[in-house]
Amino acid sequence: MAVKLSDRMSPHESVTYFFEQAADHIALDDEMREVLRGSYREIQVQVPVRMDDGQLFVFNGYRVQHNGARGPYKGGVRYHPDADIDEVRALAALMTWKTAVTDLPFGGAKGGVQCEPFMMSEAELQRLTRRYTQMIGHVLGVNRDIPAPDMNTNAQTMAWMMDAFGQRFGYQPACVTGKPIELGGSLGREAATGRGVVFVMQEYAKDKRYPFEGARVAVQGFGNVGSWAARIAAQAGAKVVAVSDVRGGIADAGGLDIEKVWVHRDVTGSVVGFPGADEITNEALLELDVDWLVPAALGGVIHERNASKIRAPVVVEAANHPITPVADATLADSGIVVIPDILANAGGVTVSYFEWTQNIQQFRWDEEQVNTQLHKIMAKAYRDVSAMAATESAGMREAAFAIGVSRVARAARLRGYV
Ligand code: NAD
Repeated sequence: MAVKLSDRMSPHESVTYFFEQAADHIALDDEMREVLRGSYREIQVQVPVRMDDGQLFVFNGYRVQHNGARGPYKGGVRYHPDADIDEVRALAALMTWKTAVTDLPFGGAKGGVQCEPFMMSEAELQRLTRRYTQMIGHVLGVNRDIPAPDMNTNAQTMAWMMDAFGQRFGYQPACVTGKPIELGGSLGREAATGRGVVFVMQEYAKDKRYPFEGARVAVQGFGNVGSWAARIAAQAGAKVVAVSDVRGGIADAGGLDIEKVWVHRDVTGSVVGFPGADEITNEALLELDVDWLVPAALGGVIHERNASKIRAPVVVEAANHPITPVADATLADSGIVVIPDILANAGGVTVSYFEWTQNIQQFRWDEEQVNTQLHKIMAKAYRDVSAMAATESAGMREAAFAIGVSRVARAARLRGYV
């Protein structure tokens, strides 16, 4: 293995570490490793935006296409101050392994603009999105590369992207997914990542006879993924005892009323201040004595300094790369099971695939069909990973990466890349 374990690994070094671990596991040859380790294409663009006060601000935008052996590149777009080339490159590679584990006919990509979206008006965000889409439009397309929402982007962002792309290339709703329903979005897409997280938790609970109904769940992050995961877990009978967002967290050992927390968040903009709940920091939430810990916000939140303090026996990676490789090893030594991001949060890209399919067929599925098909795909992916972990005495992450990497390697070999 070429990458050395350290807690100062960048996001891309961390993902590469997990890739190398899987490549060792399947005894992947050196030539194929070299092809799969790097990205196919990386672009950095200038995104000049006229701000509301008349000043021009030049943002950095990125699109990384990691691997397209199994189909068109697919991956979200993130607006965040930390969205630099290293992070976007890491997230693009994760998408390649994620679409392969779920066996979707896509490759992996990711985009990002380094900005602080909460300091920007809606008009500024629209100008930023349109300019970014213009700058990367030549590498996008229905059969080439299909963006979707990620941190701090949403259905509105995708509507602007679709419109900006359409102005240049003509009307093609399948050019992005995660769109508003009125513009060809799929029913069930908004909830899909959170719903997929809960499906995987339920599959694990059934498989390992681990508690789910009545079990205590803590969720870090109450955005798209975290709020839907918390809501659907609560609807399915779990007891969500803590949730948080960037401003802080709330906890109630008796279980939070998640429907009321939703309303509070929608009205005030945060979960903080929810009546009757205790306040808790994001750091303390991770260390709670719960049955399931669900990090659903940022990467790298479980690291060398707090890994030994994690008490949940099962951690479900709803966010992308929330656990550093050093922390991952500490959790494994403590017997803590990690359900990895490329399996746990694959519900979003799965329903994005359904949205893309519906747009191409110009036909709409009802929500029940979307959720049923999502369940089938998530349950199959879970079974594949769990079976490999059991037969080869591997952790779930190593098994998921090994499945993803071997499927991509097979496709790349069939195409004659190596
Ligand atoms: P989002 O922007 O909708 O929500 C992010 C949440 O995290 C918000 O509640 C925010 O307040 C909180 N947060 C931000 N900084 C924080 C901090 N420092 N401490 C604690 N909380 C913080 O984003 P999202 O779409 O829900 O994405 C969350 C994670 O899930 C990301 O890692 C993303 O890559 C991953 N993911 C998203 C999707 C999707 O379909 N949206 C799919 C797969 C994976």
